Amino acid sequence: MIVIRMQPGISGERATQVAEHLSERGYVPSVVEFGPETLFVLPDVPSSIVEPIATFREVADVAHVSVPYPLVSRDLHPVSSTVCVGNVTIGGDGEPVIIAGPCSVESETQIHAAAEAALRAGAHILRGGAFKPRTNPYSFQGLGAVGLKLLREAGRKVGLPVVTEVMSPSDVDLVSEYADMLQIGARNMANFSLLRAVGESDRPVLLKRGLAATVDEWLQAAEYIVSMGNPHVVLCERGIRGFDPATRNTLDLAGAVLAKQKSHLPVIVDPSHGTGVVSLIGPMSLAAVAAGLDGLSLEMHPHPAEALSDRDQALTPDQLRVIVAQVRGLSSARKGTKGTDGVKIVPGWR
Ligand code: PEP
Ligand code: MN
Repeated sequence: MIVIRMQPGISGERATQVAEHLSERGYVPSVVEFGPETLFVLPDVPSSIVEPIATFREVADVAHVSVPYPLVSRDLHPVSSTVCVGNVTIGGDGEPVIIAGPCSVESETQIHAAAEAALRAGAHILRGGAFKPRTNPYSFQGLGAVGLKLLREAGRKVGLPVVTEVMSPSDVDLVSEYADMLQIGARNMANFSLLRAVGESDRPVLLKRGLAATVDEWLQAAEYIVSMGNPHVVLCERGIRGFDPATRNTLDLAGAVLAKQKSHLPVIVDPSHGTGVVSLIGPMSLAAVAAGLDGLSLEMHPHPAEALSDRDQALTPDQLRVIVAQVRGLSSARKGTKGTDGVKIVPGWR
């Protein structure tokens, strides 16, 4: 891959000249505004085409990179990036961010009770699915647009930003109207038109790892979003398919840390889907925070026995409160050891 970095402040028409030079020769680059920088990304092209570009006044440098995800890789961007969701910052040196709420938005009463409980427990972001990716077509599919409105109202009432899943490119505008953050579910991690569509939106994106995706595939999915111009991506490890039905999935904490080492993007962990077992959610939450990851996504229902989806993994409000308090204690005990790049305390990690 080739990454052409423009001089700071060079964008628009002056950057277009470089793009034209390439496209006249049959190479169409992806143009990415990355903070104050404009970058062009291309698959490998002959050096006779690339070399003259390095001499353009507008060009700062031309790099050949071996990773297939240059924009999300730490190679070009060694400092951990942060992502803002409403007034909450995910990543960097801050305390781990807690996303909490029910699997699905079920009713006004349910989501308002969940929002109050999430706030009381100390969560920072309210979650709740309105468009649900269910394995079985006859299972509860979510309340759709009505659910989006209820989620937003509940979040606004308690002052928490909200995250919810978007399943289809045609729903991105609708979901963006109500959500502060768009979730791409595990089953859609490789839905490339959906990744492109959220890449065109200005909303931050929570990108869950696919059920059987390698870390490199997950990072390339993030690259799809960033390459469309949306750098606000948070990765979420949610367990991969294992062989043992005793846990719903195998929570791959090593994979989550590896993603953080390879990428500058924030990485959070979802031990609810990652284990599917209430008693394992607390220990895995602590392990994720001890490993220096940037936050958690936890499913909690005001009355778990009544949950219309993912009943067996739903925490009660009290269980959530205990886990968040323990996570806070651990994260303040390890304060200062995380470092700005999140993982540098591990010697020789590269
Ligand atoms: C969810 O967060 O409710 C969900 C469906 O998660 P996943 O896509 O990880 O299965
Ligand atoms: Mn769920």
